[in-house]
Amino acid sequence: METMTRTEELIALENQYGAHNYHPLPVVLEKGNGVHVWDVEGKKYYDFLSAYSAVNQGHCHPHLVETMQRQTEKLTLTSRAFYNAELGKFDKFMSDFFNFDKVLPMNSGAEAVETALKLCRKWGHEVKGVKETTGKIIVCDQNFHGRTTTIISFSSDPDAKNGYGPYTPGFEMIPYNDLDALEKALDGEDVIGFMVEPIQGEAGVVVPDADYIPKAAAMCKEHNVLFIADEVQTGIARTGSLLRVCGDCSCENKCEQQATYTRPDILILGKALSGGMYPVSAVLADDPIMLCIQPGQHGSTFGGNPIAAQVAMAALEVVSNENLAQNARKLGERFRAGMQAIIDKRDLVSLVRGRGLLNAIVINDSPDSKTAWNICVRLAENGLLAKPTHGNIIRFAPPLVMTEEQMDECIAIIEKTLAEF
Ligand SMILES: *Cc1c(COP(=O)(O)O)cnc(C)c1O
Repeated sequence: METMTRTEELIALENQYGAHNYHPLPVVLEKGNGVHVWDVEGKKYYDFLSAYSAVNQGHCHPHLVETMQRQTEKLTLTSRAFYNAELGKFDKFMSDFFNFDKVLPMNSGAEAVETALKLCRKWGHEVKGVKETTGKIIVCDQNFHGRTTTIISFSSDPDAKNGYGPYTPGFEMIPYNDLDALEKALDGEDVIGFMVEPIQGEAGVVVPDADYIPKAAAMCKEHNVLFIADEVQTGIARTGSLLRVCGDCSCENKCEQQATYTRPDILILGKALSGGMYPVSAVLADDPIMLCIQPGQHGSTFGGNPIAAQVAMAALEVVSNENLAQNARKLGERFRAGMQAIIDKRDLVSLVRGRGLLNAIVINDSPDSKTAWNICVRLAENGLLAKPTHGNIIRFAPPLVMTEEQMDECIAIIEKTLAEF
């Protein structure tokens, strides 16, 4: 038998002993620093996925590593049966940072979405007075909000949904970026919420019209329906503003005065809330909504633990101290200009879209073709990691700590790689 490389050995292990619920690119990573990761053969890559935008602050950010180490040696978990010394600090920090009365900490993004849905339903029954059996939450076609049984019940992706029934009722799907459809749905009976991604990340970085989010929020308000923003992927500076609901305003936060700012009734955060150190998610809302959930009615053993509290504060400090929103905006413009220059010369790529450093290119080939996958394999060989989505779309989302010189080098790698096709 021929000897296997370490890469082949480790992939074989995952294949044999791990469930087959993912289809990774054939690289095995073992080290990361800032915008770079290294595989087990010692090859260095630019990371253009950032763990689906969880590592906005860059891999192994020293402030986060130090914070995590310090807290790990002190106290890691108490459960919420007792108070812990870090949670109150985190609650106040989050309340000030995002300007909501209260925060409810969870772990994964899906858990935060579930929390938001439960909160919306409680509010629907107790405040709006809708019967428990009839309350309806509007969601969008092509959404991605996570993987729980309830969340996939309103997915339009057959891979995510099929075979997992019976499904949770109480959701109505409308097309994304369609205010007429929203108006019609809001006119329906017993509507309590509208949950939406301000940019659809997993769908392939689908950017709605500039007035979609502010108008949708205003329509919800008119109908006494909660506007729920899932910013698990778009939040924490990824799209060039602290939150995508801030529109194209690049101040760090508290920009209610900005014409473009939309204040959701419920805000859902995850992923980069911990800079990729640790699963930390959160739901934010004001008292009239948040206090609908009372002791014993919702919770999580790990939610709000001292490590999570400390790491999340540190992760947000990095976002402010290093001006990551501004950097994402500036580098995003540079990236899209670079891609547009390639598009103008060749017809392999049909378009580039995105905001800040959440971008995608669409390959001019059918979604059933292997072209985008093959481009990603070749990109990896050339030192840049990106992942195709929906067959012919490639998402590009590097850590936000990138420099202009690094971005130029990456654009050159992408151009060179595309030229090989
Ligand atoms: C990733 C994601 C989630 C789910 O987060 P997990 O931590 O994977 O559970 C929810 N909503 C959006 C918009 C996401 O991108």
